[in-house]
Amino acid sequence: MSNDCIFCKIISGDFGTEFVYENEYCVAFNDINPKAPVHILVVPKVHVASLNELEDKNLMGELLMAVKETAKKAGLSAYRVQINTGKEAGQEVFHLHLHILGNKKGNI
Ligand code: AMP
Ligand code: ZN
Repeated sequence: MSNDCIFCKIISGDFGTEFVYENEYCVAFNDINPKAPVHILVVPKVHVASLNELEDKNLMGELLMAVKETAKKAGLSAYRVQINTGKEAGQEVFHLHLHILGNKKGNI
């Protein structure tokens, strides 16, 4: 938990954000500024600033399995997964997260 991290605050329920999926490792919620008809973020409960700071291999496995479960729950049969890493690559929130980008037709 990082006190000045917006995703840590979301995870602790400070903003009343609805989780579309949750397990012991992560939560998933809709992106506030969607770049696709379906745009969901899968976010680990532990604060890791970016992929560059990740040391727990098992956690990434759990996150990818959570992506699969979240996509299924959202009715997506096809989707893209994106991890922006570093400011120059477009990372705005420095708490590791996986973007799920898809549409209801499943052909993105
Ligand atoms: P990135 O550019 O990879 O760091 O992605 C950060 C994403 O978080 C962006 O797509 C933002 O729209 C999204 N975002 C920022 N604040 C919130 C929030 N309070 N709730 C949901 N999504 C957010
Ligand atoms: Zn955080």
